[in-house]
Amino acid sequence: MADSRNLYEQVILDHNKNPRNYGKPAAADTIIDGLNPLCGDSFKIYVAFQNDVIECLHFEGDGCALSKASASLMTVLLEGKTREAALELEEALAAMLKSSPDTPVDESILGPLAAFSGVREYPTRIKCVMVAWQALAAAFSNRR
Ligand code: ZN
Repeated sequence: MADSRNLYEQVILDHNKNPRNYGKPAAADTIIDGLNPLCGDSFKIYVAFQNDVIECLHFEGDGCALSKASASLMTVLLEGKTREAALELEEALAAMLKSSPDTPVDESILGPLAAFSGVREYPTRIKCVMVAWQALAAAFSNRR
């Protein structure tokens, strides 16, 4: 466990320090606000669609390391995905975070999001991991 924990920390530190798809893109179909007042996480999420597929997903804003790393990973994982697939991954992430800390994590579904499994021991931080995802999911659900 110690080894995977270290690896997970590296993923979070890396995406916090060098967030991917960061900044306002040239064009966006939808701009979504993601806010977590409990921690002060505040992001804007820019989405451009090609039919039902997320063609471009960017974000910018400020937040703690967890929220920023999670938003960064979200943009990487969801580009090229359908709204439906995005909602499924958001649900899988939320379900993992709500599971008890010793429940095995299905990396075949979550991929690098497994890095957040340690957050299960700090339930008050779950919202930090979910803030960008919940904002996106709420916006997509309205469009269905
Ligand atoms: Zn936070």
